[in-house]
Amino acid sequence: MVATNAFGMGIDKSDVRYVIHYNMPKNLESYYQEAGRAGRDGEDSDCILMFGQQDIETARFFIENTEPNPELSDEQNDTFKKKEEERLSFMIAYCKTKGCLRAYMLRYFGDAADDRCEKCSNCLTNFKTVDVTVDAQKILSCIVRTRQRFGAQTICDVLRGKESQWVKSFHLTEQSTFALLKGMRQKKIKSLIDELEAQGYIVYVGAGKPILKVTDAGWLVLKGKAQVQTREALTIQTTVKTAPVSENDTELFEALRELRAKIAQKRGVPAFVIFSDSALRDMCLKTPTTDEEFLTVNGVGETKLKLYGKLFTDRILAYKNPALYAEKNKQSEQRKSKTVSHYTIPFDRWTAEETADLIAEYNGGRSIKEIAWGHNRTQRAIRFALDKLRDKGLIY
Ligand SMILES: [Zn+2]
Repeated sequence: MVATNAFGMGIDKSDVRYVIHYNMPKNLESYYQEAGRAGRDGEDSDCILMFGQQDIETARFFIENTEPNPELSDEQNDTFKKKEEERLSFMIAYCKTKGCLRAYMLRYFGDAADDRCEKCSNCLTNFKTVDVTVDAQKILSCIVRTRQRFGAQTICDVLRGKESQWVKSFHLTEQSTFALLKGMRQKKIKSLIDELEAQGYIVYVGAGKPILKVTDAGWLVLKGKAQVQTREALTIQTTVKTAPVSENDTELFEALRELRAKIAQKRGVPAFVIFSDSALRDMCLKTPTTDEEFLTVNGVGETKLKLYGKLFTDRILAYKNPALYAEKNKQSEQRKSKTVSHYTIPFDRWTAEETADLIAEYNGGRSIKEIAWGHNRTQRAIRFALDKLRDKGLIY
């Protein structure tokens, strides 16, 4: 299921796995609230935030053009606007920081945090520190020599030596900084400008199309009294740590996942309908091998016990005690051959939930064999149940 924030997101849905922002929220308070909808069940979830310069301009525009509140004094309205700008600047810095995103967020809200969480995209990226003082000086000097009247795009064009109508109309081709970074890609210059802003060497001033101004710290760089360093991404680690299952239990966890996938495939339902990851993890922790024990697993009730109990406890026993499993299997095989010959398999009562599943599977075109496997019942039992449903007019 995919939902926009306009659609029923007030509903408390615990297993939201992804929250994706296609633009930048106006402040971290909003972002925190929206991102917080993911993973309320405690499972790993991803929050992806996409943003661009345009988002920043839009947010600035809204702050600049908000109608003053008539119930507040001019001074109070000014303070409010300043506060909004400040909150926006923290949001921008969050988008641009190369430090741990979790730590940034927690510290913003006044909580203590470790320097690294090892889970966010920044922690999972290998960075190297690069000295960019010379390029920074070229950018800062271009801003100053064009008399701090232009935005990032123009500065970028001048540095790359682009002879556009706009650039020529301000005689910027005659500037000493014109084409100073010729050959450098626009994206690279823009990211350096972002970096200079994030580190406080320049600031954006004004709304709509803001212009760049050099700060006192920026002047120190221009005068050669300060160095600028940045972190460049080398590689992003592809392995994301997920299940907090102890090393010993990883094997069992994988075995149970495999079993779950097999059942899900047979029944034509998503895996989480069978069991959630946290239920599997709880199984790894409790390693139940009897029905009573299986009932203590989080997310297991009578229905799930009946449907999957044997399949899962068997798999756990096979892992925990292969010798006992083999022995038990032999006995049950013998019992099965006996009982089958006497037609004395007792029918477990069908719960409403299981019956609903059965109807859906039958109507979905599943074969009797597949249905039987998924329900852990015999094909004969399935046929019998289907006949009863047909008599009641619930299936055709
Ligand atoms: Zn992190």
